[in-house]
Amino acid sequence: MSLIVQKYGGSSVADAEGLKRVAKRIVETKKAGHEVVVVVSAMGDTTDNLLDLAEQVVPIPSGRELDMLLSAGERISMALLAMSIKSLGVEARSYTGSQAGMITDAQHGSARIVDVTPRRVREALDEGAIAIVAGFQGYNRGTGDITTLGRGGSDTTAVALAAALNADVCEIYTDVDGVFTADPRVVKSAHKIDRITSEEMLELAAAGAKVLYIRAVEYARRHGVLLHVRSSFNNNEGTLVVNPTEGENVEEPIITGVAADLSQAKVTVVGVPDIPGKAARLFTIVAKTGANIDMIVQNSSTASGLTDISFTLPKSDAQTAMTALTAEQAEVGFTSLQHDDQIGKLSVVGAGMRSSAGVTAKLFTALYESGINIEMISTSEIRISVITRADTINDAVRIVHTAFDLDADEEAVVHGGTGR
Ligand code: ASP
Ligand code: MG
Repeated sequence: MSLIVQKYGGSSVADAEGLKRVAKRIVETKKAGHEVVVVVSAMGDTTDNLLDLAEQVVPIPSGRELDMLLSAGERISMALLAMSIKSLGVEARSYTGSQAGMITDAQHGSARIVDVTPRRVREALDEGAIAIVAGFQGYNRGTGDITTLGRGGSDTTAVALAAALNADVCEIYTDVDGVFTADPRVVKSAHKIDRITSEEMLELAAAGAKVLYIRAVEYARRHGVLLHVRSSFNNNEGTLVVNPTEGENVEEPIITGVAADLSQAKVTVVGVPDIPGKAARLFTIVAKTGANIDMIVQNSSTASGLTDISFTLPKSDAQTAMTALTAEQAEVGFTSLQHDDQIGKLSVVGAGMRSSAGVTAKLFTALYESGINIEMISTSEIRISVITRADTINDAVRIVHTAFDLDADEEAVVHGGTGR
């Protein structure tokens, strides 16, 4: 008997039909002799709709109340799912995040899990029931308040429960057949990856691949949780995200996947005095706003001893960072600020890159031949990222996918959902 944690995303439970289909699948797993814990997301676009609604009431809602509101989405799906399973003659019990022991810090909207005490979930399993847990939410002991983990947080709930319950596998059910070499909504010729290392998956997630959330992959990597990303619309094997042990021989393709990210903006600080301490000062100011900086480029300085420094950061952080910089403009002594939110980041990821030459040349050549201009570049050991114009990013992804021979013969199937 195995203990299996299954996570179903919003598109798998978008309506009553979806909920019933998922309920049947859960019951099949149970009847195959396994202990089953299910983590469920809010139905369809519920979370987005609740966010829209809050915004209509007040432009910047209180974090505490927003978490109360958003956590309701998962409460709806968990209760309906438990009802549906019970109607099939199998015992099921739903639990909110706090009932399931998801203890977090107090950071509303982006809480981090600090402890998992799934006593009630374990009891339900011991009594032969299926436990259904609301994803994406937790509870802070200090404030006694409900928190949410940030968009896509149900993946993290599932992984954290799998780790705490010592599950054999954490299955992430979604509307595509697994992790693909590129977003199958954009690249029809993308193909499913059977097995990927957690290191590569982390880089892909960080580079904008939406199939798994970065925090969930990090958590799984740290706690040695085996992830299986698969479709809830068929029984095909999906993608295994594995943690190979040192020395284990894993065949590593040079390029595993191509990802795009349209969530970043670029800020350029024009006319920064090119003397020691100025960059430190600038980035200290930005760091204090909590903005998460990604790429940085500094131009060579002009005869007048001034230089331009550009950096990218999430669009939602750009305004705050610029306001903070403007407040210190006189002291730092830069000339002006420029803001550009029409950028896109393209990344190629592959562990085989470490031992293979010419990957960068091939990437840049493919982009050049298609007339796509590269504005910024950054690399890690197993990733190369470039900034291009946002409106060319999808073409760029397709071109690069082809250039690295990743195209499949068959068209990728997308079963549902909006990819939001
Ligand atoms: N319902 C939340 C969201 O849409 C959490 C999740 O789906 O994982 O972000
Ligand atoms: Mg969702």
